[in-house]
Amino acid sequence: MNIIEIMRRWPTQESAVAHLEQVRWGGRPICPYCSSDKTCVHASKDKKLPRWQCQSCHRAFSVTVGTIFHHSHLPLQTWFLAIALMLNAKKGVSNAQIARDLDLPYKTAWSLALRIRAAMMADPEQKRLFHGIVEMDETYIGGKPRKGNIAGERKPSTRGRGTSKLAVVGIVERHGRAFARAFNGVPLNFKNLSRFLQDRVNVRGSLVMTDEYSAYKKFGAVVQHSAINHQAAYAIGDTHTNTIEGFWALVKRSWYGQHHHYGRACADLYVSETAFKYNHRNNPGVFGDLIRHMVGVAA
Ligand SMILES: [Zn+2]
Repeated sequence: MNIIEIMRRWPTQESAVAHLEQVRWGGRPICPYCSSDKTCVHASKDKKLPRWQCQSCHRAFSVTVGTIFHHSHLPLQTWFLAIALMLNAKKGVSNAQIARDLDLPYKTAWSLALRIRAAMMADPEQKRLFHGIVEMDETYIGGKPRKGNIAGERKPSTRGRGTSKLAVVGIVERHGRAFARAFNGVPLNFKNLSRFLQDRVNVRGSLVMTDEYSAYKKFGAVVQHSAINHQAAYAIGDTHTNTIEGFWALVKRSWYGQHHHYGRACADLYVSETAFKYNHRNNPGVFGDLIRHMVGVAA
C-alpha cells in the first residue's frame, strides 16, 4: 500500500472511519465497554468521528476507543499515510521527514510515529517461539549523537564489545523472523544471553549458531549449539551467522538514517520497527494486518 493508494481508497475522514469500523466490527458496532451488540447511532452526530450509543450500558463510543488512534486529533487518513510511509521506507523514515511529508508539527509527527512503532513492537507475529536453525548475535549502535550534533563534544568512536555504544542482541530464524532488543546496561554474559534465547526460541529441536564470543561458549548446556570462528572463516557449510549479519545491516541503516539525537530509551522501538518490516518482508497484506492488530483484531 503506497500513499497514492491510501489517498485513493480513503479520500476522506468518513471513508477512513468506515474502513476502521468494518475492520474492527465487520459492520456491526460492538460496545467496547460491555461487548453488547445492541447499539445505535449516537444522537450528537460528530462528522469527524461518528459516535455510537450502547443500549445495554448506555455509554457512547467511537471506533477508536481502546486503540492507538484514540484521543488523537489527527484525521485517520493521516495515520494511514504515516503507517504507509513507515512501512514503505526500506531505510526507515525519520520523524522530521514524516513531519514534512504530512505537513505536521514535528512533535505531532514524533508522537504519531512513536505510537506506530509501539504497535509494530507488539506484533502478534512475535508471539510464536522461534524454531529450527536460528542465529544469535549482538551488535552495537551509536548511542551518542553523531559528530557535530552537540557543540564541543567529540569523543573517539570505539567499536565492539566493551565500548560505550549501545549493545543490541538479536535472534534470527533462517528463512524466518527476527527479534532484537537493546541490552542497555545489561551485561552480555551467559546468564542474560541464555535467558534471552530461551524466552524467544523453542530450544527443543532448534540449533543455535553464534560466533565464538565467550558468553556463548556454554550454550551447549541449554540448546544444540554451533559456533563459527570468524577469524578462520565466515561460513563452514551451514554454520554461519550471515542471516543475522544481514539483519544488523538493516538495523544500522535504519538507525543512522532516522535517529539523530535521541537517547537510548527508544532503541527498542526503532529496532522493533526494523524487525517488523523484516518479518513482513514477504507479506503483501502487511498494511491491513497492522491496522487489524491496531484495533485489536487477530490477523
Ligand atoms: Zn455497552
